[in-house]
Amino acid sequence: MSGAGDLRELYQEVILDHGKRPRNFRTLPDADRQAEGYNPLCGDRETIYLKLDGDVVRDASFQGAGCAISTASASMMTERLKGKNRAEAEALFERFHDLITGGHNAPPDGPALGKLEVFSGVREYPVRIKCATLPWHTMKAALSEDGRTISTEDGAEASPRDEPKAR
Ligand code: ZN
Repeated sequence: MSGAGDLRELYQEVILDHGKRPRNFRTLPDADRQAEGYNPLCGDRETIYLKLDGDVVRDASFQGAGCAISTASASMMTERLKGKNRAEAEALFERFHDLITGGHNAPPDGPALGKLEVFSGVREYPVRIKCATLPWHTMKAALSEDGRTISTEDGAEASPRDEPKAR
């Protein structure tokens, strides 16, 4: 029988694997949507790219630099998003957010998290919660509004949100 300790080790292995060898770690030249996310508390910075076909995510990828948790979260999120429509992607966001924060916002009949449950251990490390949820918040921003930079620290002085983009 495997105890909670073994399970925790397995979870850590999955996260470390995705953190070291992230899937979908590339730009998406023909992306329809993209958004940048920034977590100043840790220094994680990720751009999420989405290729949409109508309402359905055909391809998803990310680029950037971050800690193992934020990288693994983006890696597993982009894997999971492919083939999902917007409503399904947002339902997954709610489930994932509930898992990490211990909240109860997702409808009980929502999609199963499956492999994404490896992040349940992050709940025990509050400082890491924003690392794990950063790519998800960024994905949501990409779906709703193109080209936005979101920060986990709303109102942070360093936020480039209100500055016009130099091109
Ligand atoms: Zn981080």
